[in-house]
Amino acid sequence: MIVIKGVPASSGIAIGKAYVLEDEDIVVNRDEIPKEKLRRELRRFKAALDATYRDLDHAEGKVLKTLGREHVKLIDTHRLILSDPLITKDVPRRIMEERVNAEFALSEALEMVNRAFEKIEDEFFRERRHDLFDVGKRLLSHLLKREKRDLTSIDAPAILIARNLLPSDTFTLKETKILGFATDLGGRTSHTALLAQSLQIPAVVGLSDATRRIKNGELLVLDGDHGLVIVTPTAEAIEKYQRAQKETQRETRALETLRGQPATTTDGKRFELAVNLDSPEDIKMIQALKSDGIGLFRTEFLFLNRTAPPGEAEQAKVYSHVIKSLAPLPVVIRAADIGGDRLAHLGLDEPKDEINPFMGLRGIRLLLKYPDLFKTQLRAILRASTHGPVKVLLPMVSSLTELRSARHLFQQAHEELEGEGYEITPKVDLGIMVETPAAALLLDHLLTQADFISIGTNDLIQYLLAVDRVNEHVAHLYDPFHPTVVRVLHQIVETTRRYGKWMSVCGEMTSDPRAVPLLVGLGIDSLSVSPRMFLRVKQIVKYLSAATASQAVIQALSLADSEEIHRLIGQLVQPAGRGMTE
Ligand code: PEP
Ligand code: MG
Repeated sequence: MIVIKGVPASSGIAIGKAYVLEDEDIVVNRDEIPKEKLRRELRRFKAALDATYRDLDHAEGKVLKTLGREHVKLIDTHRLILSDPLITKDVPRRIMEERVNAEFALSEALEMVNRAFEKIEDEFFRERRHDLFDVGKRLLSHLLKREKRDLTSIDAPAILIARNLLPSDTFTLKETKILGFATDLGGRTSHTALLAQSLQIPAVVGLSDATRRIKNGELLVLDGDHGLVIVTPTAEAIEKYQRAQKETQRETRALETLRGQPATTTDGKRFELAVNLDSPEDIKMIQALKSDGIGLFRTEFLFLNRTAPPGEAEQAKVYSHVIKSLAPLPVVIRAADIGGDRLAHLGLDEPKDEINPFMGLRGIRLLLKYPDLFKTQLRAILRASTHGPVKVLLPMVSSLTELRSARHLFQQAHEELEGEGYEITPKVDLGIMVETPAAALLLDHLLTQADFISIGTNDLIQYLLAVDRVNEHVAHLYDPFHPTVVRVLHQIVETTRRYGKWMSVCGEMTSDPRAVPLLVGLGIDSLSVSPRMFLRVKQIVKYLSAATASQAVIQALSLADSEEIHRLIGQLVQPAGRGMTE
C-alpha cells in the first residue's frame, strides 16, 4: 500500500479502480511559411478561432444544463481570453513577422504568457493560467484537426488520474462514471477544484507524480478531505474508508433533514440563522437552504476587477434582485469594504503602495474619502429597499465621527431620492460592523447612533491579537479562543443588550463548528453563516443547551489560557457523532 499526499480539492471518499489518462501534450513543429502562403495561414488561424467560439457556445448549453448558470461565467472567461489581443493580434503578428505556421505562433505566444503567470505569487491568479491553456489547447486541436479528449467515453466506474484536468474536462464529469479524480498539477483554488466542489466529486490535486506512480486498473482510495490517494490499499484500509464513506453519507442525509427546521437549542431557545452572500450567483443555493435571511451581503465583488465604479442603476438592479429573491426575509447589505486585501482600481486615485493595507484606507475610511462613490451605493440600496426588508451595514467603523458622517450622507441620499420622486422605504436601519477594537470599546457611544451591530470576528480577531489574517507565518496565532477575544465579545454583547439593539455575528467564527458553542454561550442569538456550513451549524445549535453553554462561558471568562477555554467549550459538544467535535 502506497500513500501519496496532495492538496485536498473537493471533499468526499471514492474507492475504485484507477483510470490513468494519457498526457495530452501536443507537439508543435516550427514550419517556415513562404511569403505568398502567409495569408492562407492567417485564414487557417481565423477558422480555428471561429471553431473554438462554436465549441464554447456548445459547452455553454451543456454547462447550463448540468452545472447551472453560475458556472457559465467560466465560459465567458474563455471567450474573453479568445478575444484578448494576445490571441487576436499577437498570433497573427508572429505569423506575418516570423513567417511561421499558426500552431507555432500560438504556442510561442502562450509560452510567453505562461512565464509571466509563473511569477505571480497569488495562487488564485496563478491558477487562472489553466484557463488560458484550456483555450489554447482547443485552438491548437482545431489547427491540428485533432479530436479533443472526451471523458464520457470512460464506460466503467473509475477514479481518474491525470497530469492535469482542464476546466473544460471537468464540465463533462457529471455525465461520466468517474467516482473522483486526482491530478499531478493544480491548486486548491483552481477552477477544476472549484468545479469538483460544485459537482460534489471527491478530488485531490497537486500530487506531483501520481500519473507515474499509479497504473491503470490499480485499486485506489481517494480521500478528498485529507488530500490522500492510497494505492493498492490493504483490506483493513478499505474497510476503514468504507465505514467513513457510509458515515459521511449518513451525516449528509441527517443534515438534509434540517432544511427548513427552526434552529432551536435543547432548552428551547430559538436562534436566527442567516447566511453570508459574497456574490448573487449563490442566491439559488441560498434560497434552497431555507435560512432566516442574509446577515451579510458583501458588495465588494461589484467594485473589483474593473476600472470605473459601478453606477447607481447597475447597483440598484443587483440589490433589487437579491432582496426580491429573499423577500420577505431580511437582507443586510454591507457598504463596500474595499481596501485591505481587496484592492480596487477604480481610477479614483486610490493609494497603491500602502505598507499596512489592513490598517490603511479601507472600508468606511475609503468611502468617506470618496463621498460620491459612497452616496451612489447608498442611493442604489435605498432605491432597491422597496422590494423587501433591508438593512445597511458600515464596514471598519472606528469612531463616532465616521458613523455621524455616514449617517449624514445616508440622510442626504434619502432626501435626494424623495425629492426626485422615488418611492423608498421611510426607515431603513443603518448599523455598524464591530470589527475594530476601537468600535468594541466605544460601543456605548456608537450605539447612540447605530440601529444595530454585526460583529466581524475575522477582522476583530486580527486587530485584537495583532495577527494579520492573511499572513501564513502567524496563522497559528490567529485564535478565536484567545481569552482576549472571549472577553471582548462578552463586553460587546453586554453593552449591546443594555441598549436593546439587535446584534449578529457574521465572521467565519460562526461557521467554525468548534466556535459555535462559544457564540451560543455568549448569548448571541443571531448568526450569519457561510452557506457551505449552514446546515452543520444548525445541527450544532440544535444539539446545545443555551443555559449550559452560557455557564461555560462565564467560567471561560476567568480563564487565562486559550487551550483551557478550547477544552471547556469542546465539552459542550461531546459526546456526539463523528464530525460534531472536529
Ligand atoms: C469580518 O471581518 O469578520 C467580516 C465578516 O468581514 P470581512 O471578512 O468581509 O472582512
Ligand atoms: Mg471585516
